[in-house]
Amino acid sequence: MARKYVRAIFPGSFDPITNGHLDVIQRGINLFDELIVAVGRSPIKNPLFTPDERVEMIRELVKDIPGVTVEGFECLTVEYAAQKKADVILRGLRSLTDVQYEFQLAMTNRAVAGIETIFVMTSAQYGFTTSTMIREVAALGGDVSNLIPKNVYERLRRRLKETGRLNESK
Ligand code: ADP
Repeated sequence: MARKYVRAIFPGSFDPITNGHLDVIQRGINLFDELIVAVGRSPIKNPLFTPDERVEMIRELVKDIPGVTVEGFECLTVEYAAQKKADVILRGLRSLTDVQYEFQLAMTNRAVAGIETIFVMTSAQYGFTTSTMIREVAALGGDVSNLIPKNVYERLRRRLKETGRLNESK
C-alpha cells in the first residue's frame, strides 16, 4: 500500500532561531515529506527580531534542505495548519517543564481541531538552549556562538548594540 504523503508544520517564535531548533528541523524532515517552519507573528514579549527578519534568517539556513520551507503566520496555529492542509504539528521537547506545557497545548489543539502533534526530543547538547536564554546571555556579553548559527550570532550582537541592550562588563 502506498504510504500517505505527510505534511507537517513546525510553529514557533524563533526569536532567534537556535541550533536546537535547527536540529528539530533536520530530524523532523526525516519523518515527513514536507515541513513548513511557521514563524508566529503574534506579539511576543520584547522581540529582538521582527517576524520578517526571523523568516529571512531561517530561510537562509534551510535553503539547501529539500522539503523544508519557511513562512510567517498570524492566525491560530490550528487555523494555519488547516489552511496549509498540514497533517501534523511538529514540536520539540527539552525538559519536563516543556512536557507539561506542550502536553496541554497538544491536547488543546487535538480537542479543537483534531490535529496530532509529534514531538522530537532535543539532542542532549541543546537540552538547555532556549531563545530567551540566548537573548539574555548575549545581552550580558556571554558567548553563545556555539548555540546559534554564525550569521544569527552576528545579527544578534548587532541588534543588541543598535538597541542599546548590550551590557558588557568588559
Ligand atoms: P514557542 O514560543 O512557540 O515555544 P519557540 O521558538 O520557543 O516557540 O520554540 C518552538 C518549538 O521548538 C517548541 O516546541 C520548543 O519546545 C522547541 N525547541 C526550542 N528549542 C529547542 C531545543 N533546544 N531542543 C528541542 N526543541 C526545542
